[in-house]
Amino acid sequence: MALAEITARLRAAEKAAGRAEGSVTLIAVSKIQPSPRVEAVLDQGQRVFGENYVQEAAFKWPTWRAKYAGVKLHMIGPLQSNKTKVAVDLFDAIHSVDRPSLAERLANLANARGASPDIFIQINTGEEPQKAGILPQQADDFIAACRAMFLPVVGLMCIPPDEQDPVPHFKMLAQIAARNGVEGLSMGMSSDFELAVAHGATHIRVGSAIFGARNVVART
Ligand SMILES: *Cc1c(COP(=O)(O)O)cnc(C)c1O
Repeated sequence: MALAEITARLRAAEKAAGRAEGSVTLIAVSKIQPSPRVEAVLDQGQRVFGENYVQEAAFKWPTWRAKYAGVKLHMIGPLQSNKTKVAVDLFDAIHSVDRPSLAERLANLANARGASPDIFIQINTGEEPQKAGILPQQADDFIAACRAMFLPVVGLMCIPPDEQDPVPHFKMLAQIAARNGVEGLSMGMSSDFELAVAHGATHIRVGSAIFGARNVVART
């Protein structure tokens, strides 16, 4: 079974990296997956899931949350400002905080509710124009600004450029985190999570290796 295999590979990667067993959180990325596949993984005990689209997650997860205790949801896709309110009510963590206006909205909502999801700041380590994220050279200022708004910054997140060696990107993210005293590192996907663990990932985001290939046509 794919979940058991990925979990076993994760435990082996932790061990190889001299990391404590269970110190890396496996986020099962369930976006656009057919419900029976997600339910199978819930039935096997997985409780931490990642989603990319607020509306899709808001549609799917209330039923599963009622049925399975202890589900934690992580928002890993780009977050549009007009969906921020729904997102903070739904998600336990947001990995895609990538601009000052979004941070301000999140801070205002946190103030009003007296609680905030865990905040990860997305860094555009490859400086790709089409990709979301704070540029590396602006990361220190942005982290400080988020902290000044009392947002609970627990980690940094990156999505390395396609078809490039991800290791320099993992290293860069770890360096930015270390010099800012940020503990969490959300990095590593189906194809490279073991490398990410070797470079300090605390959260890996694995979709297709657990659930199978996504049918992109099914999204809308
Ligand atoms: C879809 C997605 C993943 C999971 O990708 P896989 O290659 O299926 O493991 C991880 N992170 C982000 C940000 C994603 O959008």
